[in-house]
Amino acid sequence: MRPPGPYLSAMAETQVDIFISGGGLAGLMAAAAFSHAGFSVVLADPAPPVTEARAEGSDLRSTAFLQPARTLFEDIGLWKLLAPHAVPLDALRIVDTKGWPPEITETRTFEPGDLGETSFGWNLPNWLTRREVLGFVEKQPHVQLALGTGFRSMLTRTREALVTLTDGTRLRARLVIAADGRASPVREAAGIAAHTTRYGQKALAFTATHPIPHDNVSTEIYNQGGAFTTVPLPDHQGTPASAIVWMNPGPKAQALAALPAAELGAEMTLRSCNMLGPMEPASAIRIWPVITQTAQRLTAERTALVAEAAHVLPPIGAQGLNTSLHDVAALYDLARAAPGDLGTPGQLARYAKSRERDIALRARAIDLFNRICQSGEPPVQALRSAGLRATHGIAPLRRTIMRAGLGSR
Ligand SMILES: Cc1cc2nc3c(=O)[nH]c(=O)nc-3n(C[C@H](O)[C@H](O)[C@H](O)COP(=O)(O)OP(=O)(O)OC[C@H]3O[C@@H](n4cnc5c(N)ncnc54)[C@H](O)[C@@H]3O)c2cc1C
Repeated sequence: MRPPGPYLSAMAETQVDIFISGGGLAGLMAAAAFSHAGFSVVLADPAPPVTEARAEGSDLRSTAFLQPARTLFEDIGLWKLLAPHAVPLDALRIVDTKGWPPEITETRTFEPGDLGETSFGWNLPNWLTRREVLGFVEKQPHVQLALGTGFRSMLTRTREALVTLTDGTRLRARLVIAADGRASPVREAAGIAAHTTRYGQKALAFTATHPIPHDNVSTEIYNQGGAFTTVPLPDHQGTPASAIVWMNPGPKAQALAALPAAELGAEMTLRSCNMLGPMEPASAIRIWPVITQTAQRLTAERTALVAEAAHVLPPIGAQGLNTSLHDVAALYDLARAAPGDLGTPGQLARYAKSRERDIALRARAIDLFNRICQSGEPPVQALRSAGLRATHGIAPLRRTIMRAGLGSR
């Protein structure tokens, strides 16, 4: 039985402004934005969003939302729901290390005050953001949800796309938004290829507790194999807690994930140079392959790709979902400015033009950065430390890189 609420009735043929394939964070946020702007929206996802931390399949990553994301959330009325759960990032500390156990070679702290900002961003667990955004979307008058149902196929024409869902439901939409992830079925149906770079790395994502408070500082610690990142979370049962993203060569990541909690805690404490004291895992552990992937085009007839359907980046510097929200914001701004042109070739071309360069630049920069961070070769390691010193020491360079990181437009 379908839950009560704005759920799509199967087998009816529905005419809508926008069909969104995918109810991950990007798809849900697109549904929130477009329905708020008065467009009628159908969103389908074969996997209903998991909105409890302990439930099977829960997304235990967290996202540090940067200022442009907050601006979008404020605009559509979402921020007031998210703000009570958000932990501000007051500083970003970058630590370079060499050898094992890691020996600290450089530490630099970047302050948002350098840019006249009070905070770098706001960190929220993904499962909780899903819960709040889904709750918001369910209340919007213009949205119908088809959760448990996927996109199956589409046929596009000049004026509309004819979409068929996995339960046989047929829709006519002026615009199809592909927010259906890195293996996007809409991207495939639109005949758009994607270019993928693999690093042989996997990221472990989980929550950890530690006795030393994080003081709202996010820390990235580099060592051979990739970055170890702590992002501040609210206390977990009265103990300071952080979201951990820990990149390693694939087999090592698998071996770490299989360790008993006490042994994993001891490894983490060593890897974090004991900066937050003895660490303990406080949630299940999820493993994510680390890749860079970019779609060859962002649009096709009546179709726009957003988020991981368009680009996947290694989890460094809070770029992934923030870049995705730039896609959603760009489409949303264009659609609001000319609602009658929704999904037309001109509007889609403007969308592609506004996003292609930023996506390509970010993908290249994060790819290079990840290769440099991953390396244990002494010359690369020395270059990394020197680069960190220069970035921090030369104020205009520091400000430029911080602005790029913050995703200023
Ligand atoms: C370890 C890690 C940490 C990260 N930390 C950050 C961070 O701090 N900041 C940041 O900005 N980004 C971060 N990212 C990136 C960020 O999490 C992703 O960009 C984001 O989750 C991608 O969202 P998405 O909605 O595009 O994809 P997904 O979350 O993968 O959603 C795609 C959805 O499409 C659905 N789908 C699949 N097939 C179909 C179909 N046939 N029909 C309809 N729907 C379908 C799936 O069920 C899924 O729900 C991190 C990534 C990783 C791996």
